[in-house]
Amino acid sequence: MIVAGGSGFIGSHLCEALLNRGYRVLDLDDHSTGRVSNVAHLLDVDGFTLLEGDVTDGGIAGRVAAVVGDETVAAVAHLASAASPPAYLARPLETLAVGSIGTDRLISIALRYEARFLLASTSEVYGDPLEHPQRETYWGNVNPIGERSVYDEAKRFAEALTAAHERASGLDARIARIFNTYGPRMQPDDGRVVTNFVHQALRGEAMTVYGDGTQTRSFCFVSDEVEGLIALLESEVRGPVNLGNPTEFTMIELAVAVGEVIGVEPRLDHRPLPSDDPKVRQPDISRARELLGWEPRVALRDGLRLMVDSLDDTAASGADH
Ligand code: UDP
Repeated sequence: MIVAGGSGFIGSHLCEALLNRGYRVLDLDDHSTGRVSNVAHLLDVDGFTLLEGDVTDGGIAGRVAAVVGDETVAAVAHLASAASPPAYLARPLETLAVGSIGTDRLISIALRYEARFLLASTSEVYGDPLEHPQRETYWGNVNPIGERSVYDEAKRFAEALTAAHERASGLDARIARIFNTYGPRMQPDDGRVVTNFVHQALRGEAMTVYGDGTQTRSFCFVSDEVEGLIALLESEVRGPVNLGNPTEFTMIELAVAVGEVIGVEPRLDHRPLPSDDPKVRQPDISRARELLGWEPRVALRDGLRLMVDSLDDTAASGADH
């Protein structure tokens, strides 16, 4: 199994779960946003290999071939991309390249090994949605030239390329639309709302709420997300599948939950709303429920507790972030 972006937040949890299921895993990551420390505990695990490389690089297929040799490859999972808004806004051209050129190169690798291809797509393909909750049949409402378009349109193009290869090249593809996911190993400075609120509350600071805080998101704990990804990968389900937790919260409700879990009175510091920030987001997961028999199990407060406990463990062990 090749996991592009395997040193990232979701990618590293996926590598670990795949190894536990008996797969051999090649983590292909350029460590532009992923970190070696996310997979440091896997480096000595039998069956795990780390290859530092950029999926947009013209020589990447050759470098992968040199490592894989004549082994069979069950699947190529494409999770390589900056994913948090501050991270992709800081790398606009790289983000467009990884979704387009990178996807093309990874599909070529999958075709060469007759491997299944799993595309990690995103709820961002729905943009600022006019349909709520979002079903896979909804085509989305994306500003094609807005700041966020570098991520949204790259992922939409990646879906288009994947679907075209399914039709034209017989690619055996799976498309996961991943909704907001949180948990251990999120980078403290990734700028996402859960990370910001948790670290701000732990430092006794006010939580930075963008806009009036009535915008909504639906937060999926990472172990649930990874179970969904593996269920999809091992299924025969074609076409996009939403994978997320359907319980929706406003950002103010999230701040209250974080305050409760950490045991502090939530104080809010309102800041300007970023451009094109979606007002609502909630997955309709009927397809995943019916076709994969999957649904999230970890409630928000339980997941936040697990995340906060993991930070305590990291601090106690003096580990490097
Ligand atoms: N947000 C916030 N405070 C923060 C960071 C984000 O209120 O410190 C808001 C952001 O404007 C958005 C939501 O939280 O409405 C989720 O943002 P995030 O960056 O986590 O992910 P997105 O779903 O926008 O990709």
